[in-house]
Amino acid sequence: MPDQEMQVRCCVVGGGPAGMVLGLLLARAQVPVLVLEKHADFLRDFRGDTIHPSTLEIMHELGLLTEFLRRPHNETRTLRAQIGEDWLDIADFNHLPTHCRFVAFMPQWDFLDFVAEKGRGYADFQLATQAEVMDLIEKNGRVRGVRARTPDGRLNVMADLVIGADGRHSTVRQKAGLEVEDLGAPMDVLWMRLSRRADDPGQTLGRIDAGRILVMLNRDDYWQCAFVIAKGGFEEIRRGGLPAFRQEIGRLVPYLRDRTAELHDWDDVRLLSVTVDRLRVWHRAGLLCIGDAAHAMSPIGGVGINLAIQDAVAAANILADPLRRGAVGEGDLRKVQRRREFPTRATQRLQVFLQNRVIGRVLTRRGQVRAPLLLRIASRWRYLRRLPARIIGIGFRPEHVRIGAPP
Ligand SMILES: Cc1cc2nc3c(=O)[nH]c(=O)nc-3n(C[C@H](O)[C@H](O)[C@H](O)COP(=O)(O)OP(=O)(O)OC[C@H]3O[C@@H](n4cnc5c(N)ncnc54)[C@H](O)[C@@H]3O)c2cc1C
Repeated sequence: MPDQEMQVRCCVVGGGPAGMVLGLLLARAQVPVLVLEKHADFLRDFRGDTIHPSTLEIMHELGLLTEFLRRPHNETRTLRAQIGEDWLDIADFNHLPTHCRFVAFMPQWDFLDFVAEKGRGYADFQLATQAEVMDLIEKNGRVRGVRARTPDGRLNVMADLVIGADGRHSTVRQKAGLEVEDLGAPMDVLWMRLSRRADDPGQTLGRIDAGRILVMLNRDDYWQCAFVIAKGGFEEIRRGGLPAFRQEIGRLVPYLRDRTAELHDWDDVRLLSVTVDRLRVWHRAGLLCIGDAAHAMSPIGGVGINLAIQDAVAAANILADPLRRGAVGEGDLRKVQRRREFPTRATQRLQVFLQNRVIGRVLTRRGQVRAPLLLRIASRWRYLRRLPARIIGIGFRPEHVRIGAPP
């Protein structure tokens, strides 16, 4: 079958939060855009399912907030965690300077479906699923497009600009030869679901105890649980057997004890390896990376989606005009990195500090665990709880939609 050819102004690789929001914003600003997503749909379990106040603010700026909040979701206004035997209040979102003073928990596929539906309302928006980008098309040192594999054969997409939003295992950044700085991560995460009952606590961040961390997200009828383990430690846990693993969960959170049998075999426990890295330079002539493709985020604080979406908003603000004129230069791409580098570095620095100084130590600790003194003080002083709420809910540099919809 001969290769199919397409020509588009901007080709976005990856239909995750960064790619889909960028596609919507560019199409809204009358830039013809094609988003290529390798999966057939957005239905994948264990993606981050948090929609932060700053993302909800973007929905408000797009005039979509009311409709968006009609979709089933949970609203979390404060975060609590149990460290050792102490219950601590970690963050209070009630004072944020945003329309929504809560984190919305919504399955990510619902969020992405919503963005796709809104994108399709614009003539300049195209989404191709089951289109996996395998390589870049280059000419005279400039990226001119991508080669994708689809069920109907090969597809070559020629574009003024290719944007890699294909996540932390980005093919685009690898094929572009962009240099990656690895910041290291001492942990991996085991994801699993356990049913939730009406008399369980409401929202909790879970339990931290000697050598063990269990993060629990309230999904109404089930808990989405993340069991944090030392990097590479899954094989040892498997060798210990599933009954021992179930027992460990029950010991950490006693009210889950009678539900651990829901973990029938290891297929019910999914290993997600954690990576924290970033590109030194996010762009080349004809190509830019954003979101996890430019900077893979740790799950700490659940801020990766927020950051990815903020990258998308900044990229759309800066690039819509030059893209419309068909004149995107490397200077424009540099501006995007310059705008987003500070919040990326600041967030990663905090994540690396927490993962090395707090999580790494908890995972290797055998005796009793107590929360750091600062955290215990902050938990009692409500003004201090506003700071983590701001970092988690808004981040270091919020972005606002500056490009208008056509009349
Ligand atoms: C264990 C774990 C838990 C996390 N939990 C949270 C959380 O609760 N909240 C939070 O905010 N962040 C969380 N994060 C971080 C968050 O998942 C990422 O920061 C965020 O998803 C980045 O969004 P993105 O759009 O850049 O990339 P992704 O969400 O990774 O999306 C990339 C998309 O590109 C597609 N793709 C990949 N390769 C290709 C290709 N070659 N061709 C076409 N399509 C391709 C993928 O299918 C995917 O749809 C977590 C991370 C980990 C590791």
